[in-house]
Amino acid sequence: MDLLEYQGKGFFAEHAMPVPKGKYAETVDEAVAAAEELSCPVVVKAQVHTGGRGKAGGVKVADSLDEVRTHAGNILGLDIKGHIVEQLWIEQASDIAEEYYASFTLDRSERKHLGMLSAQGGVEIEEVAEHDPDAIAKIWIDPVDGLSREQCAEWVAKAKLNSTATEGAIDILLKLYAAYENGDADLAEINPLILTGSGEVIALDAKVTLDGNSTFRHEDYSAYDATQPRDDREQAAHAKGLQYVGLSGSVGVIANGAGLAMSTVDVVNQVGGSPANFLDIGGGANADVMASALDVINNDPAVKSIFINIFGGITRGEEIAKGVIEAMQRVEIRSPIVIRLDGTNAQEGRDLLQSHLSDRLIMSPTMLDAAHKVTELAA
Ligand code: GDP
Ligand code: MN
Repeated sequence: MDLLEYQGKGFFAEHAMPVPKGKYAETVDEAVAAAEELSCPVVVKAQVHTGGRGKAGGVKVADSLDEVRTHAGNILGLDIKGHIVEQLWIEQASDIAEEYYASFTLDRSERKHLGMLSAQGGVEIEEVAEHDPDAIAKIWIDPVDGLSREQCAEWVAKAKLNSTATEGAIDILLKLYAAYENGDADLAEINPLILTGSGEVIALDAKVTLDGNSTFRHEDYSAYDATQPRDDREQAAHAKGLQYVGLSGSVGVIANGAGLAMSTVDVVNQVGGSPANFLDIGGGANADVMASALDVINNDPAVKSIFINIFGGITRGEEIAKGVIEAMQRVEIRSPIVIRLDGTNAQEGRDLLQSHLSDRLIMSPTMLDAAHKVTELAA
């Protein structure tokens, strides 16, 4: 789950990290009211799920309420790398002396957390990595041992920040690590981490990705989940509890189990077709789930044919068949369906389907044969 900057800063603040004071706004009037409460100068910041907002004109300092009005008006509706700005964060302007970079993420190959710190912040870290890799101080942290104050101080020394920033940096980095670790984050990045004119070290930006599988440990994460960017198809599938990923092709794919769903996508590609989606109905899916899955696929205008690929383990063939028949009776399925049904109770399922077969519902004996047929139908 990717947090918007203002959510990331809320997450930081909950973990006792210093962040500028700010307020959320969705309209020009709300932005002006927020600025009035905070008092100018403020920064008007676009809230979108992408970086590089500054360069795109999505971050503007305003010295007066009139300027807030102008900037908010310009930024709302702005297209930043395909993301239309609908939300703003109005923040008390900071007095920036220096801009640094700091992050924690998981290094899977080392099986450790990786901390990166650089005195060259404000620009994209990939750029620094390319032109001046030595300017990034790295630290690998064993999750069992954690990060001690001594280690952190050594790390900060290696990054050669301004000496005025040393204590503040150690303090905020220890808190950032705690937030990352206890908050089950996959990424916690601050760019820029700033040193202010009065010597404070604070987070001016926040890029946080939380582990979606940790929500059972964090009741409050459901609010983040609700604001994840999803297209209409993904939203509908999510609401029905389906594992769905939208793709750009024309063959709708439904399978049971992520492994089979991936293989199905591969086989469709292999025979020259292009999948419109990846949809895993999971293990033990009943007729209801199957019908919901068909509903979601049916509402995708890009879909020209549908491939249902089931290898029943816990999932029972007759339940799948009932779901398909029910869905076809409930709504008009726009595209022809090719179904391959194997595994537990496959024969019972095939028997049920037999009387419903037509050129709109085709049964196929193998996955490869089904892939050929469904790809032909999508052409
Ligand atoms: P990003 O471009 O999406 O990474 O957005 P950031 O939040 O990092 O902001 C981009 C740049 O705007 C920062 O690197 C700063 O230089 C500038 N900026 C952001 N907030 C302030 C502020 O409070 N005061 C000043 N003077 N500049 C700011
Ligand atoms: Mn930034």
